[in-house]
Amino acid sequence: MCVSEDAQSISLLNKSTPIITCKPLYNGSTIFVLEANLVQLDKSALVIYKVDYELMHKHLGHPSKDVLTNAPKHVKGFPRDLEVPSKSPVCPGCVQGKMPASAHPPSETRATVPFKRIHSNLKSFPMVLYHKYKYFVNFIDDYTL
Ligand SMILES: [Zn+2]
Repeated sequence: MCVSEDAQSISLLNKSTPIITCKPLYNGSTIFVLEANLVQLDKSALVIYKVDYELMHKHLGHPSKDVLTNAPKHVKGFPRDLEVPSKSPVCPGCVQGKMPASAHPPSETRATVPFKRIHSNLKSFPMVLYHKYKYFVNFIDDYTL
């Protein structure tokens, strides 16, 4: 299939046969008319797009390459012909998602007595450690900073 256009119309063609033609109702009109013809399409003409890794990555919420590689085995109807590139450009959405949230703005005041204001952070390790620890938390007394 291909697209043909001129100053008056645009057509979707199967070989040289127009399938759909879009043209203005009359010269200069902003109302367009679709003319469609029934044609017998061969099977290869029915595929008008190719599954694209970048498109799937963005539309499925930025899954990892590992997830997209294994998805056809576990997801019914998932495209089998998705080619996961070994090297691909850095995805801006993924980079932004991995950036830590901006810290709280610096405080203009300080605690005047111990334990009046405590700063804390809770972090998780990417895997359970040898001693079975998964998280760590720290507490900092603003007075002793
Ligand atoms: Zn991404």
